[in-house]
Amino acid sequence: MNRQAPLSRLPHQTPVQYIKGVGPARADRLKRLGVETAEDLLWLAPRRYEDRSRFAAIREAQPGSKVTIQGRVLSSELRRLPNGRTLLEAVVGDDTGVLRCLWFNQPYLARQIREGEQLIVYGEVEGRTSRQMVHPEVEHVEREPAPDDPAHLHVGRIVPIYPLTEGIGQRWLRRVANTALECAAGGVPELLPEELRRRLELARADWALSQLHFPDSWETLERARARLSFDELFLMQVRLALRRARFAQRTKPQRYQLEGELAASFRRQLPFALTASQEQVLREILDDVSRPTPMLRLLQGDVGCGKTVVAAMAMLVAIQSGFQAALMAPTELLAAQHARVLRAALEPLGVSVGLLAAGTEEDRPELLRRIADGSTALVVGTHALLEPSVTFARLAFVVIDEQHKFGVTQRAALVRKAVAPDVLVMTATPIPRTLALSLYGDLTCSTITELPLGRRPVRTVRLPEAKRDEAYTLIRAALQEGRQGYIVYPLVEAKAGSGLKAAAQMVRQLQHDVFPGVAVELIHGQMPSAAQERVMRNFSQGSTRLLVSTVVIEVGLDVPNATVMLIEHAERFGLSQLHQLRGRISRGSHPATCLVLSEASDELSRQRLSAFVDTTDGFQLAERDLVLRGPGELLGRDQHGWWRFRVADLARDAGVLEQARREAFALVARDPVLRDPALAALRAKLGMKPA
Ligand code: ADP
Ligand code: MG
Repeated sequence: MNRQAPLSRLPHQTPVQYIKGVGPARADRLKRLGVETAEDLLWLAPRRYEDRSRFAAIREAQPGSKVTIQGRVLSSELRRLPNGRTLLEAVVGDDTGVLRCLWFNQPYLARQIREGEQLIVYGEVEGRTSRQMVHPEVEHVEREPAPDDPAHLHVGRIVPIYPLTEGIGQRWLRRVANTALECAAGGVPELLPEELRRRLELARADWALSQLHFPDSWETLERARARLSFDELFLMQVRLALRRARFAQRTKPQRYQLEGELAASFRRQLPFALTASQEQVLREILDDVSRPTPMLRLLQGDVGCGKTVVAAMAMLVAIQSGFQAALMAPTELLAAQHARVLRAALEPLGVSVGLLAAGTEEDRPELLRRIADGSTALVVGTHALLEPSVTFARLAFVVIDEQHKFGVTQRAALVRKAVAPDVLVMTATPIPRTLALSLYGDLTCSTITELPLGRRPVRTVRLPEAKRDEAYTLIRAALQEGRQGYIVYPLVEAKAGSGLKAAAQMVRQLQHDVFPGVAVELIHGQMPSAAQERVMRNFSQGSTRLLVSTVVIEVGLDVPNATVMLIEHAERFGLSQLHQLRGRISRGSHPATCLVLSEASDELSRQRLSAFVDTTDGFQLAERDLVLRGPGELLGRDQHGWWRFRVADLARDAGVLEQARREAFALVARDPVLRDPALAALRAKLGMKPA
């Protein structure tokens, strides 16, 4: 064998510019595809594949099907349409017939699609008598292939179609991917110990990477994808398992009195009995905190199921044992509400409750002093709690509400304020299990599975703009019965000409023309927090009847008398966000109605909104959202970027994820510091020093 050493052992972290044919300018462009190193290029997953072992014949192409056709441009003409748009029309012919290809408003394509060119076009076939495609994807067949361009990369096989960016073409990318694969051949490190790989019957990494780009068949592609998704998910789960192991290794100084006067009195004065599910979850928490190692637990449960009261009971156990507890919420409004409710219940019992948020009117130095000396036992706050000036005397129990609005680093920052606190993380965003395992995979999980007795599902109705008055009539009726309501807009203010209605611009009209005589107030996130809090207090006390708002009210707010909500431009909200919004009106025993106005007619909006109308089950909606929009959109936090996988797909690879998780946690349980020499590659990948 005559392998050139430097080529065949291309180190994985080699900047991509040193791969033959790339160079600095193209390397810059590849960055936009997330490709910086040779390894990134090897892992650049095609966005789809085309089977070009045989091209479709134009005459046989079925209307409605997506096909790939190779042919010559017989004519090409750019026209300006009466409405100012442009139309490029090219006629492409093969041995069997002709195909009309149309592109609207992409005049620059005229320079590329010229008479005589050989093209490969891909798209959906339309038309019964004559065939046509609108906006097909195009690849030019070069008249003179590059000298080292094995033609078999582009035709005669299953061909990768990559995501592209300006200045990067399919053919070029196929060539450099091929070069990178050749260079890396035999040098791709195996992340998985051989024993594991064989037991799970996973393919080898180097084979899988080459099949990812140039699969021999659809079956081998599937096998390759399975292996590579496993790698990504396994790596993530090993990280989580290590984090959990580090956390659980610590012994905590706090010991609790589970039975005590404080928790008992709090429970006695609740106006309701806990549901069986709340009791169950509380038991799980108390069992967990009785252990010598700190608790790290996720409390899940759909909006309105009553997580706060469970957290309060648990915090009181810590407080009656002489410790401090902290509750962190993502918005000032929610923190203020928690403080208000907890104060009302706890101050009569002699527990001092402090509120720490950027806009609080409290005497801050005094509050900080009381937190530092331990005289404030329960501290509620926003991320203001994380500031270095906040120190606790005896913090032992930490609750993070609406955790999905925070990042892992913020959770860690609060945890560092104590020696080894017990941590309870809460989320009302029902997320699919695959996402939960990714985001919260280091946590044990408790779920509240039922809503308090007497809750009725919210009736949800989608109305067209023409029936806007009907929506107003329904709201008026609810207000007349003594209920309260929300009207929610996606924006505070909309640009002129955008055609959007926005909260701050609509409130006056709503007050004067639509709901005269009703106490209407406006709330949005750009108002000073003291003003927000005042508006919210008025609403929760009932002096304000109708709240015109933005998504600031999305999480956590609890005004049981509010039973009607109108959501404007509903297509602009995510499905989970809509569900959270609707959760604001499903908190009491009166029947509630959620009205949805949307003019959107595109397929995705239509599907999302009809899912929203059809089901009130948050978990089902979240699963739908995951499929429809992908995980990034679902949670929408940059901090969670680490689960933007290259090959794995959380909506599709749930089974792989479960398996990867089992293996990762078993591995870390056996070998908590990954000492086994078979794990050297894994250690390196995790950035750990060699064992
Ligand atoms: P979430 O789980 O969404 O945070 P909350 O804790 O805000 O929900 O509770 C929603 C509402 O339900 C509150 O008004 C709370 O007082 C009430 N609630 C909680 N538990 C019960 C129960 N067991 N029976 C009746 N109402 C309850
Ligand atoms: Mg809540």
